Amino acid sequence: MAEPQYCCQNLGGLTESKSPFQRIISFDYHDGATAGAAQCAVCAGAYKYDMVDWDQNQDVRVFGFAPLPPDSFMKLTALCAALENPKWPIWSPKWQFSTEVLRNSIETEIEQILGAAGPHEFVLASRDLAQEIIACRDLTEIDGKDLQTRSSRREAHSQRDWFQYLGLQRS
Ligand SMILES: [Zn+2]
Repeated sequence: MAEPQYCCQNLGGLTESKSPFQRIISFDYHDGATAGAAQCAVCAGAYKYDMVDWDQNQDVRVFGFAPLPPDSFMKLTALCAALENPKWPIWSPKWQFSTEVLRNSIETEIEQILGAAGPHEFVLASRDLAQEIIACRDLTEIDGKDLQTRSSRREAHSQRDWFQYLGLQRS
């Protein structure tokens, strides 16, 4: 795959660009939350992402991105590799455990790693996070707090219109 043009640190304001995220772990299975972790192929920076909005067909989805401390992505990969071999660029680890004890210990560690994420830095619309960025916009402090509050309450579909925020038409 060709080297992505942009690093995760320069995505704000971009439209119709190639995604720099070439390693994505999806925890869709985990508690039904639509969230995961993504790593930039340019700088290796890692983020927690949460789905915050989607269009009617759930085709285009908007995700909030919050930075994770160094090594987080490596630790998440190692934890999930206990379940099955990683599959890149998008990996939804099979959420099956040999024992409940193992499940609890892995879920607790994953929650701790994702819980260490900083405030959301940008929102990004995409049909496929490993392929394309339809639009991306940096969050102001106030917008970021708004998103943070909602995602911590797990209100996936917030009342906020993030399509409008990104200047996109909702299909
Ligand atoms: Zn980057």
